[in-house]
Amino acid sequence: MKDVFGIDLGTTNSCISTIGEDGLPVVIKNLDDEFTTPSVVYYDEESDECYVGREAKSGMGGAPEQTIAFIKREMSNPNYSREVNGKPVSPVEVSALILKKVVDDANEQRSYEGLTPIRKAVITVPAYFGAMERELTKQAGEIAGLEVLDLLNEPTAAALSYGTKGLEGKTFMIYDLGGGTFDISIMRMKDGVLTTLSTDGDHKLGGVDWDIALLDFALQSCGLDVTYDDIKGERDAAKMLLAAEVCKKNLSKSDKATIKLIYKRKPYLKEISRSVFEEITEDLVESTIDMMHHALKIAREPLTPADIDEIILVGGSSYMPMIKKRILKEFNCQLRLDMFEPDRAVAQGAALHAAKLQGDEKINVALGEDMGARSYGTDISTEEGIMIQNILLRTDPLLYENTFYFTTSNEGQTSASISLYENTSTDPYVSVKKSTLIMDKTLAWNHPVPKGTEIIMHVNRNEEGIVHVTGECSGKKEEFSIETKGLLDPQEVEAMKLSLASKHV
Ligand code: AMP
Repeated sequence: MKDVFGIDLGTTNSCISTIGEDGLPVVIKNLDDEFTTPSVVYYDEESDECYVGREAKSGMGGAPEQTIAFIKREMSNPNYSREVNGKPVSPVEVSALILKKVVDDANEQRSYEGLTPIRKAVITVPAYFGAMERELTKQAGEIAGLEVLDLLNEPTAAALSYGTKGLEGKTFMIYDLGGGTFDISIMRMKDGVLTTLSTDGDHKLGGVDWDIALLDFALQSCGLDVTYDDIKGERDAAKMLLAAEVCKKNLSKSDKATIKLIYKRKPYLKEISRSVFEEITEDLVESTIDMMHHALKIAREPLTPADIDEIILVGGSSYMPMIKKRILKEFNCQLRLDMFEPDRAVAQGAALHAAKLQGDEKINVALGEDMGARSYGTDISTEEGIMIQNILLRTDPLLYENTFYFTTSNEGQTSASISLYENTSTDPYVSVKKSTLIMDKTLAWNHPVPKGTEIIMHVNRNEEGIVHVTGECSGKKEEFSIETKGLLDPQEVEAMKLSLASKHV
């Protein structure tokens, strides 16, 4: 094995992969002898210890107030606030614990083989993650004691791992339906180089929505006048959601399955058929189909369903037979649907990318242009009022920079505001309402200049999707960083890293 690692920090499960002697990616099993580790953290009240993975997941039903799951969905939530055992916990910290668990388990395995501990890794992120969520993910990696070599878009990682399996010369779509997120990407592999043509996604759609729909249906069928939403946060709700997930998975294998619920100490049993399950979740599948069409529409070059040679299913929820059935119907069977170990493909692709970054010549796939999933712009006055003019578009390559020029509006001005907005539009102009202000700074050159003096705003997005802004006017140049809520300063990172290093998770 080589010292290169890729980690899929998933919403529901996480996974770590390396490259074997044969140059092919291999997943490193965890200490439970499983390929993936549940992304769940349990904080024990008495011992102040944390448990991550299967142990935490199985304790979830018993102590929901001490358990954190689906934290990745909260990476983009600046208002996330949660206290466990009287202490605030942040998405960065929880993500760091999950990363530490997968790395520690892999290290334990490696130590038996006399191998050195893991230091560097590529970590994957959903393609639709904006600059802030990417910075937070990177910081989580650092707190877990890793040097983060790169952040790689998940669908790109999946495609890299399939690169050796007959995608050359093809335009294909990656349909990634995980536990809490949905990602769609259109890519092309030419001469071993992978280019992203389009990405779209919904970070609030995933397998758990199928679980909730199934649970709500079962509650209603059992004559209980409650929905999951009414009781979420309660112990019963967490346990019943797990029961719904078990039933859902069984329905992927059989035509019928029974859900076992316990509500207010009373047991309920309900048999559910696959066709009923498919009916009650039809709208969820449809919204993924709509997004496939949207991804075609916003692609870097005009694309129709006929241009797609293949669709690859990734993510645990792709195991549901309804997904394959509905996609085949929509895309008229001209396509071949493939499923290669969907829940491991992302980590394997990340390991391939890590190997390539560390100079491994044997790897026969490489990353071409990847894409960002957000546009970045600044506010301008127009006849219709204040609008956002996008400086970097989501359809631009991920690694991209552009300059915006404007002028001072008052005589003798000594400073100007430099603001940056993030949005998902593919248009050069977008309303303020559809954008989020992510940076609001002042560039001060401290001497009066005539009205109409040029101000230069330079926006740069690096290959990790992290954005930097430079402002320049009348001889003064300043680099601004985006204030990412929840991001820690270097001392805090160091302190947390030390505290985590001594923890057994
Ligand atoms: P991921 O985030 O890719 O690990 O996907 C996890 C999601 O896949 C969870 O919602 C699981 O319930 C779901 N999942 C895993 N296996 C199956 C299966 N056989 N049938 C239906 N859903 C599944």
